[in-house]
Amino acid sequence: MRKNVIESYNAVCEKIFSKSLDHMDHLEKMTKAINLIKENKILFVAHYYTDPMLQKIAEETGGIVSDSLEIAKFCKSHPAKTVILAGVYFMAETIKILCPDKKIIILTKNSQCSLDLGCPVDEFRSFKKQHPDRTVIAYVNTSAAVKSEADWVVTSRIAMAVVQQLAARGERLLWAPDKHMGQYLLKNTGADMVLWDGSCIVHDSFKSSELKKLKYFHAGAAVLAHPEAPLAVLEMADFVGSTKGIIDAAVRLPNEKFIIATDDGLFYKLSQLAPDKEFIRAPSGGVGASCKSCAHCPWMELNELSLLLDALEGRGGDEINLCSELIRAASLPLLRMLDFYEKENSL
Ligand code: SF4
Repeated sequence: MRKNVIESYNAVCEKIFSKSLDHMDHLEKMTKAINLIKENKILFVAHYYTDPMLQKIAEETGGIVSDSLEIAKFCKSHPAKTVILAGVYFMAETIKILCPDKKIIILTKNSQCSLDLGCPVDEFRSFKKQHPDRTVIAYVNTSAAVKSEADWVVTSRIAMAVVQQLAARGERLLWAPDKHMGQYLLKNTGADMVLWDGSCIVHDSFKSSELKKLKYFHAGAAVLAHPEAPLAVLEMADFVGSTKGIIDAAVRLPNEKFIIATDDGLFYKLSQLAPDKEFIRAPSGGVGASCKSCAHCPWMELNELSLLLDALEGRGGDEINLCSELIRAASLPLLRMLDFYEKENSL
């Protein structure tokens, strides 16, 4: 294995998670996984919130570490016939919708998302029926079935621009499933929106009262927050945006310290791209809590190196299968977003 992989691996383990690991065992597994991915011409992609070891393997094998939008776009443009994802289920479905001819495998189908789970398609249809005159916007953290019911699918990166444009056209909107992001969009656009009552269990746990105290002790630190956090937290932030937006802001802004209100899996990329800056976890526990800052997604945590090896050796992994009708219906609002995104970025 290359020296820089070992150094990076050790730094990640010690600096970020301080886990007690059997380093040699993991290094051997990483080497084996890297070799299998390359030999079998598999595309391995990982979300920012997954284990740094998996992120490193994706980088080393020509895959991508990114957010759900960039991952899906990258898979679409890549020639590989088989994609393995370290992420959560709705992301794998999104890749399948955009790449129906590829074999899409997720390390475990148990890696879910509270936003997706909290928005079952039958209840979503009933909600739509109560508001028949509204344009339906589904956040990307939803099932393929919910996406197929939407006029638009958006990611956190593009949500504000889409809502602004639809509101400017006088459209009345229905937003699902993240209520915090919905409140943030509503506040910043003045759009006429009804909101589904869902949340991300990780971002929902950030506490504005504790953040206020932390800011006091770290004067000069900029707060970077994901819009899935509660509005009271977002109102204290210097920057609100997607995971990619948070990384870009950390690199771009002159501050030396940053308080980060998103899943702590992002610290791997932040430390990699802004090594001279200090990153502090935003508080997720109030007075008396046993964990003051434990913002990590339990479903992302299910993505383990051993499961990647199982998938690569044909013993595990769960393939995503969606019927062609569902793919067709869910791809319409998704492609509408990609088209909008391309136009926005070509301006
Ligand atoms: Fe879903 Fe939150 Fe986990 Fe992301 S961090 S996958 S939004 S539960």
